[in-house]
Amino acid sequence: MRLILLGPPGAGKGTQANWLAERYKIAQLSTGDMLREAVAKQTAIGLKARDIMARGELVPDDLVIGIIADRIQQPDAKNGFILDGFPRTVAQADALEKLLESLGMNLDAVVALIVDEAILVRRIETRASEMQAKGQAVRTDDNPETLRSRIAAYRALTEPLIDYYRRKGSLRTVDGMEPIGQVSAAIGRQLAAAKAESAKKRPTYGAPKIVKKTSRKAVPRRAGLRKAKKASKPARKAKRKPLKAKKKSKGRKAAARRKK
Ligand code: AMP
Repeated sequence: MRLILLGPPGAGKGTQANWLAERYKIAQLSTGDMLREAVAKQTAIGLKARDIMARGELVPDDLVIGIIADRIQQPDAKNGFILDGFPRTVAQADALEKLLESLGMNLDAVVALIVDEAILVRRIETRASEMQAKGQAVRTDDNPETLRSRIAAYRALTEPLIDYYRRKGSLRTVDGMEPIGQVSAAIGRQLAAAKAESAKKRPTYGAPKIVKKTSRKAVPRRAGLRKAKKASKPARKAKRKPLKAKKKSKGRKAAARRKK
């Protein structure tokens, strides 16, 4: 199973992607997590992305496309993957399509979590205080000011992907305002529907033909033909014999005339 989870910051993509990864035994590929790790390790990518992420803007397309191109070919993504936070721009979506095509892979579904923007700030604040309570480091971009920039980036650059995938026929929407368990159940239902639809569309090359058994067809058709051929052989011989006999008798009569 290969899918994309779309939604604004705070929509619950991470929580649902986590559940999906366990439920379908697929890899959860979060570009946000990968970038945060790169920032923490101070890699070349991390150094490029750090300030951009802190401002709540999107890091350059080529950077994240490179990360994903490498990541989806890792052994843990063989069974499938869920893209959480990627693609975020039309350019990224186009690049992903080309990449999957070149690898002979296809997407099973794109699930968009639809949420009311008014609750996003509250959700992000809750996430920040929960992380603090657990003694975990709070994300530097989980604050009201940066969140405003992240939402603006989402509206301008990521939201158009909803129409992009709708036009391609792969979009599935889920009400992200429901409690977590209900959102998960709704995603599960959408994925089952997507699977059933693609099974219907899939060509059935080489599939065995179902032949209805009737009493007549119980005798193999070819054997029946052979039988019919055998039966007609003696009949043909019988027809030929008198012809030959006629010819022979004609010959004998002529010889007799010559002798005379
Ligand atoms: P997230 O954890 O998905 O909210 O991502 C956190 C931050 O990482 C974003 O605000 C962006 O700065 C950056 N980021 C994550 N994924 C992408 C992406 N696909 N394209 C560009 N920037 C990204």
